[in-house]
Amino acid sequence: MSTASIFIDGEFRSASKSTPVIEAATEQQLGLGSAATESEVDAAVAAARSALIGWQRTPATERAAILRRFADALQQRGPDTHTLCSRENGMPIRLSKGANGLYPALLLRYYADLVDRGADEETRPAAIGHTIVRREPVGVVAAITPWNYPQALAAMKIAPALAAGCTMVLKAAPETALDALVFAEAARAAGLPAGVLNVLAGGPQAGAHLVSHPGVDKVAFTGSTAAGRAIAETCGRLLRPVTLELGGKSAAIILDDANLEATVKGLRSASFVNNGQTCHLSSRILAPRSRYDEVVDAVAALADGLVVGDPLQKSTDIGPLVSKRQQQRVLEYIEVGRSEAKLVAGGAVPADQPQGWFVAPTVFADVDNSARIAQEEIFGPVLTVIPYGSDQEAIDIANDSEFGLGGTVWSQDVERATEIARAVHTGTIGVNEYQLDVNAPFGGVKASGLGRELGPEGLAAYQVLKSIYRVGPA
Ligand code: NAD
Repeated sequence: MSTASIFIDGEFRSASKSTPVIEAATEQQLGLGSAATESEVDAAVAAARSALIGWQRTPATERAAILRRFADALQQRGPDTHTLCSRENGMPIRLSKGANGLYPALLLRYYADLVDRGADEETRPAAIGHTIVRREPVGVVAAITPWNYPQALAAMKIAPALAAGCTMVLKAAPETALDALVFAEAARAAGLPAGVLNVLAGGPQAGAHLVSHPGVDKVAFTGSTAAGRAIAETCGRLLRPVTLELGGKSAAIILDDANLEATVKGLRSASFVNNGQTCHLSSRILAPRSRYDEVVDAVAALADGLVVGDPLQKSTDIGPLVSKRQQQRVLEYIEVGRSEAKLVAGGAVPADQPQGWFVAPTVFADVDNSARIAQEEIFGPVLTVIPYGSDQEAIDIANDSEFGLGGTVWSQDVERATEIARAVHTGTIGVNEYQLDVNAPFGGVKASGLGRELGPEGLAAYQVLKSIYRVGPA
């Protein structure tokens, strides 16, 4: 590939600037991604604006039919897409198959069904006459996504927004610029009208330009809390609706009656999924003092037993981190951890992985919840094990965090665990597992974000309400 592509108004164009996309496991160049300029962002917003009226007036059933074709076209490309994503960001292929290969199509079908079934107007009796309450598309959406689940996180925005009748400019992260264009290919193959979805990749500057663009009506962002705050400030000034899915530092509360074997099996995913580069991970393990040593040994054994290696191998549990920068950041946190707690597993780049940005699964024990490694999001395969006394103390520690995105409770008594789950101040929490549900709202409280994605609430995030008051009977 000699030039990078962007997708504007239904056409692929050569990007005026490009940046290499590097394969996480080999450190070799995979291709060129666009480094979108402000004028390219302007062109993409203009295309989305001019497509808006036509798309919002397209009957919902017709929009749904196009989105189902879009889903088919993505699914057809699924195997290539999920392999490409693993090469871009190091995600183990078993996970990528579902998250990048299948999930986007599932989301498009879910939201197609939702708008197909649901009426966008309802009539309510009023004191005088009646009111028609309408749900209208919010307008042009600026979607900004990170590299960690590039297809899934983009689809969590594209599917509800397009189903609602909005048009969109998707700005993908530079690290995963290549897979973003699969949406463009599939949109074209499905006959999505030109301008409804525009795709480019670029860095923070392109993102900031898009967020503040006068042609944008709503911003949907997934990424770091720092960038989320900057975006929220801009949107606050502009009074522009914004959904923010940000960072996390969630707690796995292991109760004293937990089946440790089953718990540790669950933590493989709940605490380590995607090489630790997942926003909702239970990265703080809260262990009862009565079983503390047993839990530490089991979690350390879990970390030591994970297969670290080529993300394209089905047997791999932990692939490389996305970039050298990310690897450095995680290694720096491990150094901080050495001065704050006791290292019981990992703690370095694995000796047998000299190439690629690997970090061995790492566990710290005897961690105080005030430590930096317990408070700050590391975004790598690094866990902290924190002791607690009573159930209430476990809840207090879980809540003693800037964040509130995920979490888990592990117990043989599901009702007891659910009571504890109710008391944790977080947007989502799992009992004896953690699995996002397409039909249920996902999002955070506190510094983890604003608003929700998924479920019917995820559709409502792209709609505005209008009341039409009328005299006389309905
Ligand atoms: P990041 O915030 O640096 O970048 C995310 C995206 O935002 C990229 O496309 C980037 O180019 C863009 N961007 C950065 N600064 C911007 C600005 N000021 N204005 C507009 N756009 C800007 O995040 P990252 O390091 O790439 O991703 C990891 C972070 O994402 C972690 O903190 C993680 O917890 C979070 N995350 C959250 C969720 C969730 O659903 N809550 C999901 C996945 C990742």
